[in-house]
Amino acid sequence: MKTSVSWLGASYGPLDDQRQGEVPETAENKETTVLVVDDEPRMRESVRDLLDAYGYTCLLAGSGREALRRLDERPVDLMLLDLNMPEMDGFQVMQQVRKRHPDTDVVVVSGETTFESATEALRQGAQDFLRKPYAPDELSRVIGSVVHKRRLERNIHEVHRRLEASEQRYRFIVNNSPDIIYMLDDRGRFSFINERVTALLGYTPDEVVGMHYSDLVHEDDLEKARFAFDERRTGSRASQNVEFRLVCKSGPQSYRYFESRSITIELSAMGMYRDRAERLEQGFVGTYGVARDISERKRAEEIINYQLYHDLLTKLPNRALFRDRLSLAISRARRSGSRLAVLFLDMDRFKVVNDSLGHLAGDQLLQTVAARLDACLRESDTLARVGGDEFNLLVPDIDGPEDVARVARKIMDRLKEPVVLEGYEVFVSFSIGIALFPEDGQSMDTLVKHADMAMYHIKGRGKNGYEFFSDHMKAHYHRQLSLENGIRRALDERQFELFYQPQVDVCDQRVCGMEALLRWNHPERGLVLPGDFIPLAEETGLIINIGSWVLEQACRELGAWNREGLGDRVLAVNISAAQLEEPDFEQRVVEAMKHHGVGRGQLELEITENVLMQDMDQAVTKFRNLASHGVRVAVDDFGIGYSSLSYLKSLPLNTLKVDRSFISDIRSRSDKNSIVTAIFAMARELELEVVAEGVESQGQVDYLKRLRCPKAQGFLLGRPMQAEQAREILRRGLH
Ligand code: C2E
Ligand code: MG
Ligand code: MG
Repeated sequence: MKTSVSWLGASYGPLDDQRQGEVPETAENKETTVLVVDDEPRMRESVRDLLDAYGYTCLLAGSGREALRRLDERPVDLMLLDLNMPEMDGFQVMQQVRKRHPDTDVVVVSGETTFESATEALRQGAQDFLRKPYAPDELSRVIGSVVHKRRLERNIHEVHRRLEASEQRYRFIVNNSPDIIYMLDDRGRFSFINERVTALLGYTPDEVVGMHYSDLVHEDDLEKARFAFDERRTGSRASQNVEFRLVCKSGPQSYRYFESRSITIELSAMGMYRDRAERLEQGFVGTYGVARDISERKRAEEIINYQLYHDLLTKLPNRALFRDRLSLAISRARRSGSRLAVLFLDMDRFKVVNDSLGHLAGDQLLQTVAARLDACLRESDTLARVGGDEFNLLVPDIDGPEDVARVARKIMDRLKEPVVLEGYEVFVSFSIGIALFPEDGQSMDTLVKHADMAMYHIKGRGKNGYEFFSDHMKAHYHRQLSLENGIRRALDERQFELFYQPQVDVCDQRVCGMEALLRWNHPERGLVLPGDFIPLAEETGLIINIGSWVLEQACRELGAWNREGLGDRVLAVNISAAQLEEPDFEQRVVEAMKHHGVGRGQLELEITENVLMQDMDQAVTKFRNLASHGVRVAVDDFGIGYSSLSYLKSLPLNTLKVDRSFISDIRSRSDKNSIVTAIFAMARELELEVVAEGVESQGQVDYLKRLRCPKAQGFLLGRPMQAEQAREILRRGLH
């Protein structure tokens, strides 16, 4: 807008928008409120006209007091203040303004020309000074510059505010990061670190700034850390996720939660350069990095690793870790030409303890034994639990067999002392097989297998001892293997046969029953007795199939007896532990009986005491169930096991078969001290029938007669015989 104004009789041309220092009338001027304070009305008016022309919002006041009132009413950007006014002069007004309205700028106007009043006004906070009379462009310039300055200040203030907000935002983000964020200077000292360091390491950021990074790194990890902390590369080549440990602050003031003393971190870092484009050595200013606390993850990994490679009961290494160590030891021995030994240790009779004292006591025994074994060893030896009661031991760097024999003897010696379990003293012994590298095997599997074979060898020869592997064991092992295959074939090719041995009433010589005994018609070896193959069949599980066949065959035979009218006799069948454990055992027995027409009381199952004791609860349930179907139960080989008669009371027992060893002990008909006497007394008490096994002499028969033992079985009374012959005997009724 171009206009011309007259002021104090003078006329001025239109204002030039472009002139420097002058403020063009703009929409912004409208937002600037100017308060003109002058006691001269003419003066006020003309200034107002002028300001209007520039587009400012103009207010007027004729006195200092009025000016202050106006200021109280609304905010004013700029005050044109006359210094010379009656009542309240400009200085007094300024004083109030400064106090109550510090945002209002003041330009003083006065006729006084002295330097003092001008400087005084400026000292009191006036922005500028105009001397009366002044030309309109001078007024415009002064106002323009004050307004300009105000705007600049406002802008600066705004920029400052935004900067501060942004700084606060970034600080918040950085300090609340779950990771440590830091910067190092070019000499590896911390120039910045966020507050996370306090929670993780116990230092305040101020303490860390200035420290060298190596002061925070675990001494064992320095080498690794140096590469990451000294990172000068940027981009994808920079360090990513390097793992190492940082130490926590120590000393009395250290934070109590830093018990671990160090944390594991994963560090990513990159070099920082003055000029982003130019990555020259002289432009390197330091490193920026982020360290993440991965201690928790590490701990979890450690636990998982521990569980993967250890037996949790004994805390010993497990088979996987043993194999790992053995494989390493073999490669090392191969390189250095040294020797090592693998020991296979199997606890003798662990099962008996476990079954009679319970699993908790069994666990406790294993723990105690493991600790004792461990105490016999050197740091470099590895003892592992590889099965229920089986341990493997690796002894590296041995000079010869004598070294290992010493270890084995030490172990056996250490175990001589009994372990007290639930008030009982339990004596523990081990069968130990030893294989040496390189002579007994070159590979891990062969060494373990040969140590195992040697262990079985010593087990078979009375347990509690050690034995070195030798080639003849291999032959034995191969015989076992071919025997196993032979049993499989025998089942397919019907090479098994049942023989029958009479049970005789000693008083009237009548055959009252038979025991079915298994025979194997081996194509090459001829007739093989059960003692030569049943243990292996039990070990391999083949006994289940054999047992099923025996039951089926025995019931078929009973069916045949019934058809011939011989069905008033009992047929006894031997049962193994594994058969009893089969979930459908009773069902199979009952089905076989039904299928072949076997009546109640005709079939008697013989089971040894130890099998019964393995799982008494199971035996009670199953035999009660079978008894309800008319199946009789006999305890075989009674007297050599660990059971007590009171245990047996809970079973639906019919017969006790007194073990052959007690019968053979009977020397004369007047043998009073015989244990048999006691057994008979007890059996009578429990209302059980008694069968004396292994009767071979007339003296024994006479003795049994005196004891009023009704039944006996033995070579004297009848050897095991084929089915047809047995039926013939039954037909005749006497043996
Ligand atoms: P057992 O059940 O105690 O059978 C009695 C064993 O003593 C039989 O041996 C029998 O031939 C033998 N014997 C009988 N009278 C005399 C004697 O007067 N003197 C001597 N020295 N021995 C006598 P066998 O047939 O060799 O059977 C051995 C063991 O094999 C049996 O002992 C039994 O535990 C087991 N067995 C036999 N057949 C089977 C079967 O079908 N299944 C299962 N699971 N085991 C069986
Ligand atoms: Mg028997
Ligand atoms: Mg027997």
